[in-house]
Amino acid sequence: MRKIAVVGLGVAGSYLVSKLSHEYEVAGFERCDYENCYPPCAWGTSSIEMQRLLSSIGLNFEDYILYKGKEMCVDLGNSRFWIKLRGLCTFDKLSLERDLVDGHDTKFGVHIRSAEQLGDEYDLIIDSTGFSRALLPKIDKDYVIHTLEYKVKYSKMPIDDFYIKPMRAGYLWFFPLGDSYAHVGCGDYFGKQKYFLDSFMREHGGEIVKVVGRPLRITPPSMCQPYHAGKVVGVGESIGTVFSVLGEGIISSLRCAEIFSK
Ligand SMILES: Cc1cc2nc3c(=O)[nH]c(=O)nc-3n(C[C@H](O)[C@H](O)[C@H](O)COP(=O)(O)OP(=O)(O)OC[C@H]3O[C@@H](n4cnc5c(N)ncnc54)[C@H](O)[C@@H]3O)c2cc1C
Repeated sequence: MRKIAVVGLGVAGSYLVSKLSHEYEVAGFERCDYENCYPPCAWGTSSIEMQRLLSSIGLNFEDYILYKGKEMCVDLGNSRFWIKLRGLCTFDKLSLERDLVDGHDTKFGVHIRSAEQLGDEYDLIIDSTGFSRALLPKIDKDYVIHTLEYKVKYSKMPIDDFYIKPMRAGYLWFFPLGDSYAHVGCGDYFGKQKYFLDSFMREHGGEIVKVVGRPLRITPPSMCQPYHAGKVVGVGESIGTVFSVLGEGIISSLRCAEIFSK
């Protein structure tokens, strides 16, 4: 049986471990510890497409939904408008990633820096390391959005549904997680995400219980070549699957994994 190594067990890598394990001998590697991982992401997505993607591997996306949006407020500073929502929700991304790999051959807390580190054991190595793109050659011109996000606990939610505030080159988001929690974050091309986020926190209060953030690759796939080198093939954000206008990468990374598995 052919052996495949999946390096990076974010949403795309975890999905591939689950999907490919029926036909191949698959081993997964993740640099975060199993207990201490918290995917830096607002955990917002479309339930309609997620249901389709996950049903093909026997999971019910409904089981992971934390909050179903009704309408999203878009705050333009001097005016606001509301968009009716169909399917936008937040979901427990961490539990989903764990459920996809539990019971499979995976190693957590292992930082893979090159394909050589894995030896000759594998016929194929998947680079699903997201922004790190740890096993593929560097991209000539990489575009990134700088992000910072807080998980916030409220005694009373300051906003009762999805909220975004667009800025010159990025936006601030408030995504409810249910149970009086929200992901409040900001992505800014010019690196002023902390300034905008802390202004929002001063205005709306809340207790910060987690802080995450990382650069987000918005370089389009056509500029993320090569997609493969030797035995290594890139899947997900490592090869530019983020919709640059919204910074949305969950569904496109899963679709990339689905195409790869076919
Ligand atoms: C703050 C923030 C908020 C976001 N919010 C949303 C949102 O609400 N909705 C949405 O659709 N998208 C969102 N995105 C984008 C989305 O999270 C990513 O595009 C998507 O998760 C990419 O999936 P991936 O599996 O390709 O990479 P990742 O999910 O980034 O997974 C990569 C994995 O590889 C591991 N790894 C990295 N290097 C190594 C290495 N050398 N060895 C071993 N393991 C390694 C990492 O620890 C990680 O677990 C957000 C991104 C950020 C930064």
